[in-house]
Amino acid sequence: MAEQNFPQGQLMAGKRGLIMGVANKNSIAWAIARQLSAQGAELAFTYQGDALLRRVKPLAESVGSDILCECDVTNDDTMDATFKTLKDKWGKIDFLVHAIAFAGKDQLAGSFIENTTREGFKSALDISAYSFVDAGRRAAEIMNDGGAMVTLTYLGSERVIPNYNVMGVAKAALEASTRYMAADLGPRQIRVNAISAGPIKTLAAAGIGSGRHMFRFNKAASAMQDNTDPMGVAGAALYLLSDLGLSCTGETHHVDGGFHAIGMPQEGPLRESMPD
Ligand code: NAP
Repeated sequence: MAEQNFPQGQLMAGKRGLIMGVANKNSIAWAIARQLSAQGAELAFTYQGDALLRRVKPLAESVGSDILCECDVTNDDTMDATFKTLKDKWGKIDFLVHAIAFAGKDQLAGSFIENTTREGFKSALDISAYSFVDAGRRAAEIMNDGGAMVTLTYLGSERVIPNYNVMGVAKAALEASTRYMAADLGPRQIRVNAISAGPIKTLAAAGIGSGRHMFRFNKAASAMQDNTDPMGVAGAALYLLSDLGLSCTGETHHVDGGFHAIGMPQEGPLRESMPD
């Protein structure tokens, strides 16, 4: 399903928005961008550095976008420039997709208590959580009332996932930020939600230790006994960013084949990896 689109439609007709976090065609943000475009949205993209521009530009062009802004979320100048470009080109926007996270590789393996450094903690929280608050504030300044924002999170915020470590703490901060942002922007009918996606093979996921185990365990232990399809995440984003999501805000919506709902998986699928 990953390379396909839902049927074309007009759910996002007349709406314009910024997609932050496309690194390549496997990025979750790209799956979302394609579906928004197929529903009539006009898109702008951010990228980091020339290497990514080479990958993001053809993707952006394939959905008719010529607004590409170089943006490192830790750099205020590039954030200022990004939102100024949107204001100059469009005046107003209707939605924001935030799909950005980072933690040093040394922070994403082994013992959380032993390996989490002050710098590693600050940088993970800054890039993976504060950046949504910062981008959300800037976006709200030029957003039409009734707009919407979505960020991407993971179950490691709620439960311990081996090696996810400080990123789990950052995702907990991101989800809490989502609720506070929803409260602040609610009077303007701007909705702010998070999608908690199951593991998907992307560059960011490759940085987490024991990735193979994560995918195998998720497949075996989820209600649907399958890995998460990026199209499901894109569909949820479409719902949350379009008028289908009216009245839904401050929510963390799980799209993970029901993995989060299972207390103890059935014996069968896991049995071969768990000797008696
Ligand atoms: P991805 O394709 O690697 O996307 C991550 C993006 O974050 C990249 O475009 C990356 O750009 C960007 N980024 C990192 N640091 C940045 C910075 N300082 N300024 C601007 N951009 C920065 O991986 P993905 O899996 O689609 O990740 C998107 C979001 O989904 C993340 O929040 C991730 O935690 C979340 N998520 C992923 C999974 C999964 O299993 N893949 C599951 C649940 C949630 P660079 O490549 O230039 O660093």
